[in-house]
Amino acid sequence: MIENFSDGLGNINQFDIPDELLDQIQKNIEEIISNFPVPEDNKLDVIRKINFMYSQTRHLSLTDPLTGLYNRRHLDNCIEREFLRSKRYGSDLSIAIIDIDFFKKINDSYGHMCGDFILREVAYIILENFRKTDIVFRYGGEEFVVILTETNAENAFVPLERLRKSIENYKFKYNGILISLTVSIGISSNNTETADIFLDNADKALYKAKENGRNQSVIFHDIK
Ligand code: GH3
Ligand code: MG
Ligand code: MG
Repeated sequence: MIENFSDGLGNINQFDIPDELLDQIQKNIEEIISNFPVPEDNKLDVIRKINFMYSQTRHLSLTDPLTGLYNRRHLDNCIEREFLRSKRYGSDLSIAIIDIDFFKKINDSYGHMCGDFILREVAYIILENFRKTDIVFRYGGEEFVVILTETNAENAFVPLERLRKSIENYKFKYNGILISLTVSIGISSNNTETADIFLDNADKALYKAKENGRNQSVIFHDIK
């Protein structure tokens, strides 16, 4: 299952539209067209164009324009779906919130454009670090979320720590200036009643990582 729309550069790879829905859309489009005087030899072309416009609109509504990652709206859809699926099949699932440390200082020191550049680069580094089955989102300003399917929190810790260290060691180069930064990460697993608590636990773990001095990953169930 390839979930990411984007390869980090904003290119569309694949849409996650169920076949039944596609068939329904196709039928609707054909119905609409049948009510308009579209020449028969042009019909297929019109259907193709409408399909393309629909796909583009859907893509725009689910992705973040700055980074090309899935946006918060799509996270809301996915988290519920993946949570319920993991409960149904008894499979592992974990979620991580990744927050850039002291990001405000980057904007204040080097400007908003530099901040935007760094957000794009961080998004790319995150995408590079995870499997195709993991789903990456831009959650908020300088916050990202990764849903790791078939993975418990301890196992999720491994790639998340690898990501944290690679960001710590990376030199962001903006207009000839080298910039270093770190991230804090909160991780939780699906042993909760609801998807909301599942996400909220990752947020609590993130808060703990910040409180403990930042530049670290914390698993919710390790919080004392
Ligand atoms: P902490 O370590 O506690 O997370 O500190 P922080 O500075 O990262 O957190 P804070 O929430 O105080 O500031 C987040 C900053 O992120 C403030 C806001 O201006 C910036 N930001 C949010 N969205 C964007 C964006 O799209 N582009 C840029 N350049 N900056 C953004
Ligand atoms: Mg934040
Ligand atoms: Mg921050």
